Amino acid sequence: MKANSQESKSLVLIVDDEPFIRLILRHFLEREGYQIVEAQNGIEALTLFSQLHPDIVLLDAIMPDMDGFECCTQLQHLDFSKHTPVLMITGLEDQESVDRAFEVGAMDYVNKPIHWPVLRQRVKRLIQQSQLQQKLEAVNLELQRLVTTDGLTQIANRRGFEEYFNQEWQRLKRDQRSLSLILCDVDFFKLYNDTYGHRVGDRCLQEIAKVIKDIIKRPGDLVARYGGEEFAVILPNTDTHGATNVADKICHAVRTLAIPHKNSQVSPHVTISVGFTTEIPQPSSDLEEMIAAADRALYQAKAAGRDRFVQNILLPKSKNFW
Ligand code: GH3
Ligand code: MG
Ligand code: MG
Repeated sequence: MKANSQESKSLVLIVDDEPFIRLILRHFLEREGYQIVEAQNGIEALTLFSQLHPDIVLLDAIMPDMDGFECCTQLQHLDFSKHTPVLMITGLEDQESVDRAFEVGAMDYVNKPIHWPVLRQRVKRLIQQSQLQQKLEAVNLELQRLVTTDGLTQIANRRGFEEYFNQEWQRLKRDQRSLSLILCDVDFFKLYNDTYGHRVGDRCLQEIAKVIKDIIKRPGDLVARYGGEEFAVILPNTDTHGATNVADKICHAVRTLAIPHKNSQVSPHVTISVGFTTEIPQPSSDLEEMIAAADRALYQAKAAGRDRFVQNILLPKSKNFW
């Protein structure tokens, strides 16, 4: 199958200091259906690569000033170079040169004089491989997103929460900075489902997730669905004052949604209870304990009448405290 039978032609960057070699390579590869761009030295190759993002680079090993090995090394440092195969074209067949070609990042090599059927297959195969690799990475990324996203609300799920909370806990332990954790639980939600049905209940959870997400502005913050009708917010580098502010805004925003809940015992509308805690993670402290602390505060908010936020005050760790 020729390359021009694909949707768009693949772009080949030919790098060689000899005009004749460039000419015959261009001639041959154009006939194979590729689009060609030429560079006559390493510097020009680097510039063209950055501008055009070719699908493959055919690189002469021996060139004045910057040779192919050096050029290949520098190519690896450019953006978009990760998936672009470099095929070295070399008159050198000694072990050292071949080893060096692979060491500097070439995917394969062909010898001069060029054996055309071999070149044709190598170019085709390398482009196919790199396209496959790119697709695979995109699929992996999407999979990673899916396993950490909640299907109903499109915010992070419990797994996403745990991964991020772990990561931020470790980071802030190193930096000795504040981490705040907010846990939210919709009030009388079982009654809500019983009154309006499960599907309406689902829509209510979607609206609440959205409104909490809209409040959380910093790129480092994370909103997650922690459980059925429970949400968690991770606020790195945020002290008690900041967390109080966010907790207050969450309660207020849910109230303002004014979703009718005629059987709620605290309001004609859907409300939420919030518990939060702030700490600077210590080598001796425990991440699970921080979650438990926020959960205790949430419980207190429920017990105190719901539709409110409560901060957990950490008790001093002392044997004689009680
Ligand atoms: P409280 O004010 O003490 O939190 O009371 P509650 O009724 O909200 O608490 P409870 O834990 O008794 O009930 C939670 C309810 O949330 C029960 C469950 O059916 C509902 N729920 C959990 N996940 C979902 C969901 O994905 N969709 C819907 N519609 N309801 C859900
Ligand atoms: Mg609950
Ligand atoms: Mg609840």
